Amino acid sequence: MSDGQSRPEHDGSAGVRELDALVIGAGVSGLYALHRLRGMGLTVRVYDRAGEVGGTWWWNRYPGARVDYPGGPFYCYTFSEELVRAWDWVERQPDQPSVLTYLNHVADTFDLRRDIQLHTTVQSAVFDEAAQRWSVETSDGERISAQFLIAAVGTLSAPNKPDIPGLDDFAGEVFHTGNWPQEERVELAGKRVGVIGTGSSGVQVIPHIAREAEHLTVFQRTPQFALPARNQPLDPELVRDSKENWGEVRRQIREYGRPLHMVPSTRSVHEDSEEERLAVFEDAWQQGGLALRECYRDLLTDPVANGYVSDFVRAKIRETVQDPAVAAKLMPDYYFATKRQVMDEGYFETYNRDDVTLVDLRDEPIETFTADGVRTTEGEYPLDVLVLATGYDAITGALRRINPVGRDGLQLEEKWAAGSRTYLGLSIVGFPNLFMFHGPESPSVMFHQFYGTESQGDWMATCIAHMREHGLATIEPVPEAEAAWGAEVQERANRTLYPQTDSWFTGANMPGKPREFMVYIGGSQYHQHLHELAANGYDGFVFEPARSVAPVTQA
Ligand code: NAP
Repeated sequence: MSDGQSRPEHDGSAGVRELDALVIGAGVSGLYALHRLRGMGLTVRVYDRAGEVGGTWWWNRYPGARVDYPGGPFYCYTFSEELVRAWDWVERQPDQPSVLTYLNHVADTFDLRRDIQLHTTVQSAVFDEAAQRWSVETSDGERISAQFLIAAVGTLSAPNKPDIPGLDDFAGEVFHTGNWPQEERVELAGKRVGVIGTGSSGVQVIPHIAREAEHLTVFQRTPQFALPARNQPLDPELVRDSKENWGEVRRQIREYGRPLHMVPSTRSVHEDSEEERLAVFEDAWQQGGLALRECYRDLLTDPVANGYVSDFVRAKIRETVQDPAVAAKLMPDYYFATKRQVMDEGYFETYNRDDVTLVDLRDEPIETFTADGVRTTEGEYPLDVLVLATGYDAITGALRRINPVGRDGLQLEEKWAAGSRTYLGLSIVGFPNLFMFHGPESPSVMFHQFYGTESQGDWMATCIAHMREHGLATIEPVPEAEAAWGAEVQERANRTLYPQTDSWFTGANMPGKPREFMVYIGGSQYHQHLHELAANGYDGFVFEPARSVAPVTQA
């Protein structure tokens, strides 16, 4: 393709499959990349180690897994009105089986499966400078040469199995929420179950396990400001209006990262009296979902404003949990909403059950696992089953585990040893023709996920078309652009309270991971900037034509 022509998929002679683009991951982004790039005549193939399409929605099938943000009818691709009209979500926050069914429907609608290879892990990816292409090997020994390597590996797909002494000696069953058994149902009735972790996954799974198990022990390190999700059936009028005016809804998503009826307030908390403020908080609490986080504009930037809303939520937890000693253990003390906001359905009420024990690991740290359970500094907790809701090596983990090797043998592990360095969160100096979806330093998890995917995928498609038109073989950012982008991402984050909290946004959840804020705050500006960049000649990138012609610099 470097000469503007697609090569056949097999060169026949060396048993190497030739592709224009190899996509890693068959989740939301990988499906879109395949649809978009194949639609412009490229040979594209998607590889995924899962047994079905769906990415995170295939892996996370623990009891209670559902979209925990007000999703439907908007938890969907936005690019095709036909697709929007053809699908009806039933609930505001669809459950995992519904989302997986939707993604399978998308795969069928666009006939994607014929170019998706499941049960196949990409094991290595090395940039071949002479060929100006990526050489990739898979777990089944296939070798592939691709001009473009597209990482659609997911932001929360590399599970974090904590390094707790004795964990491997535990004789019971162990499950990670992000790697829940696919075929068989996990039988918990009559069992003593332990859950480590009280993030979004833990908060979703805990009430379900409590209802099923003989006894549940929750091992909590950090209490959460969980908010009531108040999931409910979708308002049919909203669905109908949205479908009829999809162009307008899509415009709102592009501009605000969500439809207008979910847009944050522009009012400061300081404009209201205490009485007015509490009424606003109460109203938002009753609405559920993200309403409380969005009810004033300064809750995430002003420590005083954040203190008001933090106190409000702590009071709600105290009201809900009957035993004051248990309630005291559940009091969060970081800045409200500076970890990824957790939504709950009966989470705090779960601690009113006689068959649920809360262990505060700050008071009694785990000493070791034994064959029979857990021993903390204060006592023994016998267990039959352990659920690790311990999260992910987020945003960078999945790609780092593949560890692509770029120019001059540069490994991604080495490149990112002191922190992720990217240009626009989608490309990396030293790694030509490698594009990332939702990479570090992109808006990723802080913008409408499907729209963000489409925007980045469209940018990749436009860029590749530009390269074909001009006979260009490679694209790579220049170091100055990468450095300036990283500085802008940190500067934007530092205007908020987010970086002050230990979270997976900052890498603080993984021992040894460099601390940095990994998300670009300001999603709509990002997407606008991306497309202006494409229109104005790809400032900050350098292109190389096929070998023997001098490079064209556009930085
Ligand atoms: P998480 O938010 O990172 O939470 C992990 C939990 O495990 C935290 O409570 C953490 O404590 C604890 N933990 C980790 N290592 C530990 C250790 N060694 N000892 C004791 N506790 C430990 O992970 P998650 O709950 O899987 O959620 C990750 C993200 O996935 C969410 O933030 C969200 O973006 C996404 N998600 C989405 C949905 C949805 O939409 N339906 C559902 C689930 C998850 P610390 O807080 O002290 O680190």
